[in-house]
Amino acid sequence: MDEIMVLAEHRGGELRDITFEMLTMANRLGKENDIAVTALFLGHEAFDLSERLKGACDTILLMEDPELANYNADQYLMAMETVIKSRNPTLTLIGHTAMGMDLAPSMAARLSLPLATDCVEVNLAERRLDVLRQIYGGKINARLTMKPSDQYLITVRTGSFDAEMEQGKSADAQTIPAPSWADLRGRQFLGYLEAELEDVDIAAADILVSIGRGIGKPENIPLVQEFADSIGATLSCSRPVADEEWLPKSRQVGTSGKTVRPKIYIAFGISGAYQHQAGMKNADTIIAVNTDPRAPIFNIARYGIVEDMLKVLPLLTEKFAKK
Ligand SMILES: Cc1cc2nc3c(=O)[nH]c(=O)nc-3n(C[C@H](O)[C@H](O)[C@H](O)COP(=O)(O)OP(=O)(O)OC[C@H]3O[C@@H](n4cnc5c(N)ncnc54)[C@H](O)[C@@H]3O)c2cc1C
Repeated sequence: MDEIMVLAEHRGGELRDITFEMLTMANRLGKENDIAVTALFLGHEAFDLSERLKGACDTILLMEDPELANYNADQYLMAMETVIKSRNPTLTLIGHTAMGMDLAPSMAARLSLPLATDCVEVNLAERRLDVLRQIYGGKINARLTMKPSDQYLITVRTGSFDAEMEQGKSADAQTIPAPSWADLRGRQFLGYLEAELEDVDIAAADILVSIGRGIGKPENIPLVQEFADSIGATLSCSRPVADEEWLPKSRQVGTSGKTVRPKIYIAFGISGAYQHQAGMKNADTIIAVNTDPRAPIFNIARYGIVEDMLKVLPLLTEKFAKK
C-alpha cells in the first residue's frame, strides 16, 4: 500500500515530540508523492492519547492491549510485524530514541527491510529514498541513496524537524487487533528508571544564550546569566564549559550533548566546531559574539559581533533590561 507509517512514541501518558517531528516530515513526503500518512499507536487504554494525533496524519491505527502498555521490544516487534505485513507501507518511520535504537534493527532483520538510522533529512521521489546521516560524530554529512525497494525503514534523529501538532489533517481513527502473544521470548518490562531530574530542558527553550570557552572563568557566568534573564533566555553551553563543570552537562549543546532548535541562539565565545554546530545549526536565528572574525560560528550566524564578549554583555543587558 502507498502509505508512510509513523510509529508514535509515548511514555507515561505523554506523546514524545519525536512523534510529531516525524509526522511533519512524513506529511511533506506524503504531499510530494501523493501518499497518505498513518500514525501507528501501540498502547493500552490509550484512545484519548492517540486522538491527539488527529490533526497531524490521515489515519490513526490504534492497537490496544495490556501487553502494549509500556514499550517492550518483544511485543512491539510482533505488533509491528503484523501491521507491516498486512499494510506493506512504502516507508516506516521510527524515532532514533532509546526505543527506536532497540527496535528498528531487529525489525529490519525480521522483515528484511532496508534500514537507515539516525536520519536528519529524508527525500522520497519515484519510490527511491535518499537520506542524510551524520557520521564520524557529526564531522561528515553522508547522503545515502538506498537500493530500490518496495519498503523502507528509517529512524529519525530527534530535533531534526519541527514538531507540529496541527498539520491541517483530520485523521480517521481505526482500531486494529493485537496479535497473539504466544511466541513471546520473555523479555519483561519492570519499570522506568527516570534520569536525574535536569534543572531545565534546553531543548524546549525558545531563546538560548550559549557560552563557550571564551567565557574564560566561571566567575564570569553571572554576567551572561544577567543578560539571559533580561531577554527571558535559557543558558546553554559548549562542551568545554560542561567538561569544566561550570554548567551542568544537561546544558551542553552538540553531538555529545543535546540537539536544539530554538527561535534564537546567541553564541558567546563559541568557536563553532562541527560537533557544536551539529546540535544547534537548525536554530531559526543564530547570533554570534566572538573576538576571532574567522571563527566558524560566523559561517552559520545571521548576525555577528566581533568583540570581547565581556565588553558586549553588560551593554546588551543594559539595553534589554531597560525595556
Ligand atoms: C566525539 C566528540 C564529541 C564532541 N561533542 C561536543 C558537543 O556535544 N558539544 C560541543 O560544544 N563540543 C563538542 N566537542 C568538542 C568540539 O570539538 C570543540 O572542542 C568544542 O565545541 C569547542 O568549544 P568552544 O567553542 O567553547 O571552545 P573553543 O573552540 O576553544 O572556542 C572558544 C572561542 O571563544 C572565542 N573567544 C575567546 N575569548 C573570547 C572573548 N573574551 N570574547 C568573545 N570570544 C572569545 C575564541 O575566539 C574561540 O573562537 C566534541 C568533540 C569530540 C571529539
